[in-house]
Amino acid sequence: MPEETCFMKVKILVVDDEEDMEPMILQRFRYQVQKGNYQFSFALSVRQALAIIKNEPDLDVLLLDINMPEISGLTLLTQLPELLPYGKAVIVSAYNDMDNIRTAMNRGAFDFVCKPINFEDLESTIEKTAFHVQHLRESAHIKAVADLKTRFYDNITHDFRTPLTLILASLERLTPEQNDKSDFPRHLLTIERNAHHLLRLINQLLELAKLEAGHLVVTTETGNLGKFVGELVQAFYPLANYQNIQISYENNLTGYWIYDQEKVGQIVYNLIANAIKFTSVVPKTEEKAKVGQIIIRLDAQDEVVLSIHDTGIGIPEAHLPYIFNRFYQVDSHAPNGSGIGLSLVNELTELMGGSIYVESATGTGNAASGTTFRVTFPFEKIGDAGIIPDKTIDFNEWFPNPVSTPVFSHSFTNSTSEAPLLLLVEDNLELLSFMAEKLSLTYRVITASDGEQGWQLAHSELPDIIISDVMIPYRDGFELTQLIKTTPATDHIAVILLTSKASHDNRLTGLRKGADDYLTKPFYFEELSLRVHNLTTRQQKLRTFYNQHLTQPELPQPIETVQNEWLHTLYNFIEKHLDNPAMNVEWLAGQIGMSRKTLLRKVQSLTQLSPNELIRQYRLRKSISFLKSGHNVSETAYLVGFETPAYFGQCFKEMYHVTPSEFLSSVNSHNTAV
Ligand code: ADP
Repeated sequence: MPEETCFMKVKILVVDDEEDMEPMILQRFRYQVQKGNYQFSFALSVRQALAIIKNEPDLDVLLLDINMPEISGLTLLTQLPELLPYGKAVIVSAYNDMDNIRTAMNRGAFDFVCKPINFEDLESTIEKTAFHVQHLRESAHIKAVADLKTRFYDNITHDFRTPLTLILASLERLTPEQNDKSDFPRHLLTIERNAHHLLRLINQLLELAKLEAGHLVVTTETGNLGKFVGELVQAFYPLANYQNIQISYENNLTGYWIYDQEKVGQIVYNLIANAIKFTSVVPKTEEKAKVGQIIIRLDAQDEVVLSIHDTGIGIPEAHLPYIFNRFYQVDSHAPNGSGIGLSLVNELTELMGGSIYVESATGTGNAASGTTFRVTFPFEKIGDAGIIPDKTIDFNEWFPNPVSTPVFSHSFTNSTSEAPLLLLVEDNLELLSFMAEKLSLTYRVITASDGEQGWQLAHSELPDIIISDVMIPYRDGFELTQLIKTTPATDHIAVILLTSKASHDNRLTGLRKGADDYLTKPFYFEELSLRVHNLTTRQQKLRTFYNQHLTQPELPQPIETVQNEWLHTLYNFIEKHLDNPAMNVEWLAGQIGMSRKTLLRKVQSLTQLSPNELIRQYRLRKSISFLKSGHNVSETAYLVGFETPAYFGQCFKEMYHVTPSEFLSSVNSHNTAV
């Protein structure tokens, strides 16, 4: 019970025609009144009591005399449940009035005390009654909130269903009659597939709500269970095929069974969908994971046993006790999910009198990983095949279009090879494909479907911008951002995080890890496109800025203005070894601990120059200062690392369109003039 309820004031109405009752009670309970624990009101008749109750419907305890003139306390008792649904009456009556006391108790009085009053007894009776009343109030409140939640839940899920059903129905009118939809516009297929997905999720939520409210009942029918499961398994073939997973089904069941087709279907559907999902995310680099396997068996022992085994990532032992809890998800590399599926499977199984077991190994070392779910059902067999004609099952009825393979292409070509390079990291292939296709009209685009692959590509390709979802397998978007921003080779890459986690905290986490921008799903493509544009423009401006400081002698020395830490270190390095003519890209790459290719890409993306060009520009830019400070041309040539003054002169002229000597004399004449 919440702490504050212990200190709640108890409101008591004393209904007694004896006038000295009021002073006596106030005298005996004065401390309780002073402390604010009790609040009394007094009525000398039932009529007066009714008027008070009308004004104070939150009374807790009635101390009620039975024998009163005009209307008896017993009459008031009969009206009490309606007037005070929670308040309770304690009868205060003479000991010899036992008959009336019995009647009062039968009419709902909570307790009684006898006159002459023992006040200690009365106090504990008041306490006991008040506690009971409080308990009633709380239970009613909890029930009201629960009812409200259930109603709200029910309404909202139905409200989602209606528009979705309309979307699907309208789509159906646009869809060709035949099953082959290959000519059907891609975007309409995307709408259809995703509307089905939403509908499936909502249906599952609705089932859970019904289960909670006790409204879900088992509806059995007779059918060929083995065949039914087989057809459901078959519906998963295209998806499994696409994910490079082999599915096999062994049906050891014959004949006809009595079972709830819809519930068994939901169970099989969820378990296979999970098996595929968690097998498809096994890293492709591991030998054992080249081809995933799912084995489904149906056996009849004392009960029907369905087992679904996969060679997926497995479930860590510590998580096993919780996976059937609602909304529970192992913090794994799993693609999107809601944590509903298994709890629904579990509750549906229990509802049908079955049980579910799970065994799993996460495959440490060389051991194989995988998970097996075993579900037992107490179904009854009614006969052998042939007795009842086979019923054809229309999966569309309850799993409309259960799986259809998302269309995805990895090649996104762009006509200009100069366009900025974007890396998209997203595990929803459909969304990835959508973004890639649209962005590739303006940019060069490469894609990855998990954080690890994203990191590999970021490192090898050094894109200009990475757009990454936060919830992705293997390395989430936060980890990926942190890695990119703390690795010298990649720290210049801009990162935009995409996520459905809209909370402020997540936004801050993303930005703290170094993300340059943050977008919450669902987002408008236009907005993403604008943000990418802004970032590439900013990068381009910075490039021009650094480039100009390397080339234009009237601007401050590059090392004084550069903000990029890595570039600053590089300039420092060049500055220190400026007089070394052997300083070139190989030498620099070795010194700085980067591959030649990475150094090239990084310097290029920061300054628009190759490292060799950068070194030369830096030498020439620096030579101006030496010439100005009084060094002659050949001294300067050696000071800035040219092997011969002649070659220095040639490069100087190419860059500044005057020879070093002409430059010197113009400086000198300017000085003399001044
Ligand atoms: P979800 O929508 O996340 O799949 P489920 O309730 O279906 O929710 O599953 C709960 C969690 O149990 C999953 O997030 C996953 O971590 C784990 N899980 C379920 N099935 C498997 C499986 N076949 N292999 C590995 N992990 C699984």
